[in-house]
Amino acid sequence: MRLNFREDMKIAVVGTGYVGLVTGTCFAETGNTVTCVDIDEGKIDNLNKGILPIYERGLATFFHRNQREGRLFFTTRLAEGIVDAKIIFLALPTPPGEDGSADLKYVLKVAGDLGPLLTDYVVVVDKSTVPVGTSEKVAAKIREKAKVEFDVVSNPEFLREGVAVEDFMKPERVIVGTQSARAKKIIDQLYAPFVRQGNPIIFMDERSAELTKYAANSFLATKITFMNEIANLCEVVGADIDAVRIGIGTDSRIGKRFLFAGIGYGGSCFPKDVQALEKSAGDVNYDFKILKAVMEVNEIQKVALMPRVKKHFGSLKGKTIAMWGLSFKPHTDDIREAPALYNIDQFLKEGARVKAHDPEAMDNVRKIYGDKIEFCEGPYQALHEADALFISTEWPEYRTPDFEKLSLALPSKVIFDGRNLYDLSAMKELGFTYFSIGRETIYG
Ligand code: NAD
Repeated sequence: MRLNFREDMKIAVVGTGYVGLVTGTCFAETGNTVTCVDIDEGKIDNLNKGILPIYERGLATFFHRNQREGRLFFTTRLAEGIVDAKIIFLALPTPPGEDGSADLKYVLKVAGDLGPLLTDYVVVVDKSTVPVGTSEKVAAKIREKAKVEFDVVSNPEFLREGVAVEDFMKPERVIVGTQSARAKKIIDQLYAPFVRQGNPIIFMDERSAELTKYAANSFLATKITFMNEIANLCEVVGADIDAVRIGIGTDSRIGKRFLFAGIGYGGSCFPKDVQALEKSAGDVNYDFKILKAVMEVNEIQKVALMPRVKKHFGSLKGKTIAMWGLSFKPHTDDIREAPALYNIDQFLKEGARVKAHDPEAMDNVRKIYGDKIEFCEGPYQALHEADALFISTEWPEYRTPDFEKLSLALPSKVIFDGRNLYDLSAMKELGFTYFSIGRETIYG
């Protein structure tokens, strides 16, 4: 039974990226004292000055409040960050290694560093997405130099970028892998304020918790990819993916979410997690065939509109393309594995000029492309002198544009829509030439 009172705790979060910063800030918001640690000195300097390194809806309010009220601290020194901490979270990168498997070097490095620094019992919680068996590896690494008792718990994170704070504050479920009653009690207390509406904290063994995260992301990537293949088939047989989507989404066994067709999934999680699960299955001689197909289809899907762009223009040399949306999905500035970038590369390779707009991600894209593409203050500005509009990300502000203004700014009235934002009959009526995914092409 969960007790009604809880002790506020001292918590350390090692790794202050998307997950670490949101985790630390939200734990501070529920009254705990949190120190976030990162090796990136510039990031920590800025955080100490009140400057956030990422855009995430609602984060700034919590961040400033908790910093002001003395519950949220930042340091580059691990030894300083973990003083008196009852729980130490690891929110470290687990990028794909050369062979596609999750690279554990960051996680194991910190585990090794922690060992000699521990002075009292502590729960080390792994929030990074890691392959089955990592908790045991982390525990072994800490044990090499630790002189005190500790537990290692797997607590994979399910927040979605763009709604990360909301997801963290009101999780649909919290997955906790531990077989230690002592650790279980501490984690249960910590998460109690986040599940007051009755959403479950699901306890299981460490290995199952680690696999739960990969299974969830791989399932969602598969669902998206399946719909993209149905969309591609729709184009060949003259069916409409939106009708099919609504038709199957009303079946409660399938559900309405994650059924939208488009130019593929991207981001920092799906691509790497699908790849890592397929690889880790291969390591134990299990051939995960579906995941191989998912990766192959998604690679092609990211540039699914390109053949139609090329067919429409003949040659792209000297053409100007306005691109709306650069982030891998709306409400984030994250551009990791963003389909937009794959399309920009193709446009540049074919000799086209790209004028881009994104509400949040332009600074990040500028770091990669410099002046190879033009960045525009507003979406309509990107259309100036453009031969076509290409939509990569479904930001709300692109959903209901002023079509009159759009027509004036883009006299060619040609749109390639990788996110199926507009109604076909409206496009027909307005006289646009409109290409989308899994739907009839409208010729204006
Ligand atoms: P990130 O790259 O944004 O942040 C990781 C941070 O760790 C960086 O700031 C880096 O400087 C820091 N770091 C590296 N080595 C360090 C060390 N030795 N000591 C202290 N700090 C160190 O990564 P992220 O997106 O926050 O992801 C972290 C983990 O969470 C990954 O395993 C990821 O798969 C998982 N995850 C991410 C998301 C997401 O939406 N981003 C969601 C759920 C799970």
